[in-house]
Order: sequence, then structure tokens, then C-alpha cells
Amino acid sequence: MQYKNNKKISIALHDVRVSSGNSGIQMISKLITTIDSPLTIHLICDIQIIKNNKLILFLIEQIKENKIEVVYHGVTHKCKNSIGKFTSFYHNYEAEFLENSLIVSSNTKYAFQNLKMILNQNLGICPPCWISTKENFKMLKSLNPLYVEKMIFIFNQKNKNISPVISLGSSKDKDLFLLKILGNITYLFTFIYPFQKVRLVFHLCDLKNQKSMSYFIKKINYLKSKNFKPVLLKDLLD
Ligand SMILES: [Zn+2]
Repeated sequence: MQYKNNKKISIALHDVRVSSGNSGIQMISKLITTIDSPLTIHLICDIQIIKNNKLILFLIEQIKENKIEVVYHGVTHKCKNSIGKFTSFYHNYEAEFLENSLIVSSNTKYAFQNLKMILNQNLGICPPCWISTKENFKMLKSLNPLYVEKMIFIFNQKNKNISPVISLGSSKDKDLFLLKILGNITYLFTFIYPFQKVRLVFHLCDLKNQKSMSYFIKKINYLKSKNFKPVLLKDLLD
């Protein structure tokens, strides 16, 4: 298909753990086949990363073929129950960068540098749930990543790019009802300039839910038919 405009869509799979090994590889391969597009993997560095880890070897191979991009997505993906109580209905204590601590910043610095070294390239960073404290946001930017993602914007060294997120990320029918309405509102925005750099995000729980899968696939197919070019996340940016 010829894409003559600047409409782009990046499709991502969040919360893949380095420790997931073969099951992670199978999940990613299946999703790439289903969407027939490049896929951005948001990787949680939950174990020490070594080059002969099966999943890492697979990712390196796919990166070389431009089928995959890896984004750093934390070490634990969790925060303490004493933090962010007022917004917990949203993050459910899954927001690692809501905690300002030496442990969080030193773990992040080590894991991010290590992942970059092993994949032999600079990477973007996405705080879990797209939220962080001001201090942690500064810390993440000081690591000179390709970009840092937030819910509405993606920040690279020069620019702030508007990019809406379409995401579900729940296995509960009650949550999914509201999440789909929110997703549909965001989706409608993507047809209005300047919101035409769309991030469509699968979570692991979506892959097991047939209704969530068909929700996403319909949107991907429609966006492609409206000349949105599927790209890796780094290629969404100006
Ligand atoms: Zn996540």
C-alpha cells in the first residue's frame, strides 16, 4: 500500500518480561502474524539481562529485520501500596515511577544501560501506566533515551509530539465497557489533525480475550484502510 501522508500508527505490546522466555517469544510471534505490522515491545527487565537469554536473542534478530523495536518499561512495574493512593483506581499500584527512591533510580540506570548495551542501540522509555513523578521524569530524561512516553505526549530531546493512546488492558468485563468507550473517543480524535500519530497498545491480558482482540484488529484494519502507516514507535516522532 502507498502512504502519501503523515498519518502513522504504532502498535505495541506492553509488559513482556525478560523472564518469559519461550512463552514470550511465542506470544510476540503470534501477534506479529495477526497484525501483519511492525511491533514495539515494552520490556520489563525483571531479571538480569544476559546476551544468551532466549527472548533477548529473538529480539535482537527481529530488531535487525526492523520488525521489532524494544522500549524500556521498568524493572518491577510496581509501586508500594503507600504511594499514589488517590490515583490508584487508575494505576492499581502498577506505576513503578511514582516512587522517588534511590533504589528505583539506581535500578533504572543500571537496567536501562545494560539493555541498551546488549541490544546495541539507544532505546525509548515508557513509565508503566505512562505516569511518573516530576523527579523520576527528570531522571529518565537524564539517561538520554530516544524518547520518554506519557499518556498524551512523547518527549524526545527536541520535541513534544502529540500522540493519543488506544489501550484496554483489563480482563474484567465491567472495566472493559468503560475502557472501550474511552478508546473509541480517542480513536475518533485520531482522524483530526494533529492527532494522527496513534499509539495502539496491547497488554498481555488482551491477547487472551477474543473480544478485546477483535476490538483492536478492527481498529488497526480501518486505520490502515484510511492510509495510516504502521510504523515502529521511534518512527512516529518528528
Ligand atoms: Zn505496563
